[in-house]
Amino acid sequence: MPQNPHQNALKQLEDVAKKIKLDKEIFEILSKPQRIIMMQIPVKMDSGKIQIFEAYRVEHNNARGPYKGGIRYFPQVDLNEVKALAHWMSLKCAVTGIPMGGGKGGITVDPHKLSSGELERLSRGFARAAADFLGPEKDVPAPDVYTNSQIMDWMVDEYKKTKEKQLKRKLKKSEYLPTLTGKSLGNGGSKGRDIATAQGGVFVLDEALKALKKKKGTVAIQGFGNAGYVAAKLLHDKGFKIVAVSDSRKALYCADGLDPDKVMKYKEKFGTVGLCDCKASGKKTCKSGSSCNCQGCKYIPQNKILTLDVDVLIPAALENQITKANANKVKADIILELANGPTTPEADVILRRKKITAIPDILANAGGVTVSYFEWYQNMKNEKWSEDKVARKLSPLMRQSFREVYKLAKKYKTDLRTGAGILAVKRLEEAIKKQS
Ligand code: NAD
Repeated sequence: MPQNPHQNALKQLEDVAKKIKLDKEIFEILSKPQRIIMMQIPVKMDSGKIQIFEAYRVEHNNARGPYKGGIRYFPQVDLNEVKALAHWMSLKCAVTGIPMGGGKGGITVDPHKLSSGELERLSRGFARAAADFLGPEKDVPAPDVYTNSQIMDWMVDEYKKTKEKQLKRKLKKSEYLPTLTGKSLGNGGSKGRDIATAQGGVFVLDEALKALKKKKGTVAIQGFGNAGYVAAKLLHDKGFKIVAVSDSRKALYCADGLDPDKVMKYKEKFGTVGLCDCKASGKKTCKSGSSCNCQGCKYIPQNKILTLDVDVLIPAALENQITKANANKVKADIILELANGPTTPEADVILRRKKITAIPDILANAGGVTVSYFEWYQNMKNEKWSEDKVARKLSPLMRQSFREVYKLAKKYKTDLRTGAGILAVKRLEEAIKKQS
């Protein structure tokens, strides 16, 4: 039975509630989203036929600020997944203390099967359908799995057009640009947003290594997209040895370490992770699509990436990857959760028993939403920050958040996930009580 990510989120909330004896009313409020918006998006396909796509926007909590969270395009997107992701967004914004609430969106679609025109019409359709709920002070989406700055640019343009038509007047930039973050640089995007999730994770990992008195070592990364690839690159540049990476199609293992940029070049050419240009080399041992042993690398079964003997394991793909079925076999000392919800509550119990330090998603990947907030702020104030300024603001925030979470985990004799949850829930509780 596939795990329901919203059930997992609720189990994590229960663990926090027990530790801090949370008021029943606050638990009730946090265990449900404030609003669920379900939409049908009709899209004229290139064939001329109309296809209808199911879309969701879940607004979990806005006691600390406007709802904030990405929009995912994925074939398996469903309401339970979006509810869980929105819940984690409220906690994530509270962990780093940015004045934003939690929301998330999703469309059930495989975007790789759409033409560019179909993708644009779908994205504009979503922005039109959701325009009344969105807005700089209301609900501010961003990219997530299989969405990007181009999609955000289409959406912000469609939002502007829709509102101008409704209001019968021109909107000022500050009225529409901050409605979506993760836009392209020429269209109000922030410098540093593209690397923010991984960079925030690297700052947190650095603090964790100091706290645990460990040195940098070997790394395996599941997922080679925005979060996973950039993490591989940043850690490689800092002297970590990246021994394995995977994507939705393959997992590549290189005992002597790999160069993430070379793997990305291969992926751009052949659509999956790899290192040797099999077609060009013509080597029998190195057929694209079967096995690959160039440069001491080989393909391994995809699920093996999670159980390799490495110092740091980085899940950077999807939910429910480390489960009770494989947690016993995890050998890493530290798990840095760049993905949202990659570890189930049952797996957490096993990891705790094995003394594996799991740095939870709501802390480890919070750099993304933090720089999204910086983008929103720049758009509101008509400012443009340098990449250096973004990193200078992100670093202390992420490091301080780790230290606070670590301290709370020690104080309550619990793991970092519950420690991060305690920090977040206490901040949310304070805001909810002030509001009511
Ligand atoms: P992306 O679309 O850029 O990349 C996703 C990657 O995961 C791709 O390489 C894809 O091939 C791979 N993948 C999909 N299914 C897989 C599977 N079964 N096994 C291995 N790999 C698989 O998405 P992203 O933005 O990098 O997001 C990845 C994770 O990070 C998600 O959980 C997302 O919610 C989380 N996250 C992303 C951001 C961000 O700013 N991008 C911020 C916070 C959290």
